[in-house]
Amino acid sequence: MTDSATLFAKAQQLIPGGVNSPVRACRSVGCDPLFIASANGSKMTTVEGREMIDYVMSWGPMLLGHNHPEVNAAIHAAADKGASFGAPCPDEVALAQAVVDAVPGIDMVRMVNSGTEATMSAVRLARGFTGKSMIIKCIGGYHGHADSFLAAAGSGLATFCIPGTPGVPEDTVRHTLLAPYNDLAAVKELFRTRPDIACVIVEPVAGNMGLVPPLPGFLEGLRELTANHDALLIFDEVITGFRLAYGGAQSVFGIDPDLTCLGKIIGGGLPVGAYGGKRRIMERIAPCGDVYQAGTLSGNPLAMAAGLATLGALKKADYDGLAARTKALAEEMAAILREKGAPVYLTQVASLFTLFFCQGPVRDFESAKAGDAARYASFYNQMREAGIILAPSAYECAFTSFAHSEDDYARTLDAVRGVKF
Ligand SMILES: *Cc1c(COP(=O)(O)O)cnc(C)c1O
Repeated sequence: MTDSATLFAKAQQLIPGGVNSPVRACRSVGCDPLFIASANGSKMTTVEGREMIDYVMSWGPMLLGHNHPEVNAAIHAAADKGASFGAPCPDEVALAQAVVDAVPGIDMVRMVNSGTEATMSAVRLARGFTGKSMIIKCIGGYHGHADSFLAAAGSGLATFCIPGTPGVPEDTVRHTLLAPYNDLAAVKELFRTRPDIACVIVEPVAGNMGLVPPLPGFLEGLRELTANHDALLIFDEVITGFRLAYGGAQSVFGIDPDLTCLGKIIGGGLPVGAYGGKRRIMERIAPCGDVYQAGTLSGNPLAMAAGLATLGALKKADYDGLAARTKALAEEMAAILREKGAPVYLTQVASLFTLFFCQGPVRDFESAKAGDAARYASFYNQMREAGIILAPSAYECAFTSFAHSEDDYARTLDAVRGVKF
């Protein structure tokens, strides 16, 4: 079979950078991507036939493990009945019911096709509902690639944003206000100076600057500030939904957001996103309300079947057990690396963790960036050589799954012991 190098050379002629999502190109860790032929449980097999232990898990969706038998069977059964109807199907209702039953803040939910669509639509709804135009997001928070989220600040708190990429008009990101993650005072200051804030969108546990948990009081403070200023609180639970717990981060922290964005896990590996929340807000969406949002493939029968089977299996899953195993693994990895002289600041929540190569503490994007990216690149490449797939970027989470075994963990720790700096 063709090897990864040959495929990548060809892909680069046909697809920008040879990939359909930039981080997959592995540029920040200075190597070429591995092409994957198949995946099963905790492992992925490259086109060269090499089986590797996976801690990316498709960036989160595969909490049950790759190729889970029940999810697989559900997809096959749905495929035999036709791939898309463009009309309502029973599984949409069943998945909506499962989401509403699971997530405390969701009374009604609308299915879309990606996390990006979910956050983009939730912000449109927040603006439509409040009649206000500004949004607040955290620096280093990732909410997909819609224009208004691709804003970067010069330094610290910025009330004036510049686009983080060409192609986004300044007029668009002018409506995006930035605050450091975990900095309630900064958010408070924005509310004090701006009367026109429609919403705050936040990852309840930040997962895209590496894993950064909220400090005590941060989420509570956001809830209070938004409520006091007639703005909506949007939890972006695209990573944390059904991962921190079956009810998501909001069920763990006991915070009641107005809107919640979901993705990744609820599609069981197929392209799905969803946004939901309070009935009086959600009823503003077309056709019952005036805020437009639509999708040719939204509620796709295969995707709904995969999501339903995934939630069905997760409902019975032992989240506490997985969190304990993940904690033990991550702490041991950190200890081994520290013995080798590397400064390591470890964050871990449920089945997510990040080893930051710095002293820490890491509490926002600025402190996350203190991590030694060159050392991470060396770590990544040595682990990959030893058969372990980590995220190809220093500022991402590692993901464990219910399919990871004690043997996988032992082999992973052996690989860490072999690392040389
Ligand atoms: C992955 C992610 C998104 C975007 O989801 P896509 O399906 O990639 O569009 C949004 N928010 C968070 C927190 C994410 O991790």
